[in-house]
Amino acid sequence: MGMLDSTESRSWVQGQGGAPPWEVLPHPRSGQQCLRSRRPFVVGEILARFSAAATEDRPSRMTVQVSEHAHIALAPPSLSFMNHACEPNVHLDVEHRVAVAIASIVAGDELTFFYPSTEWMMASPFDCHCGSPRCIGWIAGASQVPPSLLRGRPLAPHIARLLGPAAGRVHVP
Ligand SMILES: [Zn+2]
Repeated sequence: MGMLDSTESRSWVQGQGGAPPWEVLPHPRSGQQCLRSRRPFVVGEILARFSAAATEDRPSRMTVQVSEHAHIALAPPSLSFMNHACEPNVHLDVEHRVAVAIASIVAGDELTFFYPSTEWMMASPFDCHCGSPRCIGWIAGASQVPPSLLRGRPLAPHIARLLGPAAGRVHVP
């Protein structure tokens, strides 16, 4: 797993024991880093606990938003290489600080989560080419997504609060 190995396995052992259940690899199409699962997971299974290596008041490419005004750098750090997908297999539960499977995962699958589920206004928006029929296209945070496209998706509590009643019934895990 390259250079992350030593520092990361140490922080991992403190938190949960053993090596992270993923490896960091270049994505076959984009060449950017991505996470590949080392093992299968069933829906609802926890892949990892995470915590804040640092807390910032502004988002960056590497942070995850955990409340209206807090953005954390992730520990284990390799978790921040998890890419976005519009039909993801992982949800980052920022309340309980766990990464949980929301689709069944087999070994070798890329691990992805839906960035607008935690991010309100992203620092580095991009156009998504995930190919899913549910693809929302421009990924810039939940504030930039028509609320109808967020319906039925797991969303962080702060995103549900920021969307407000206008969003209608959104699913908050
Ligand atoms: Zn997409």
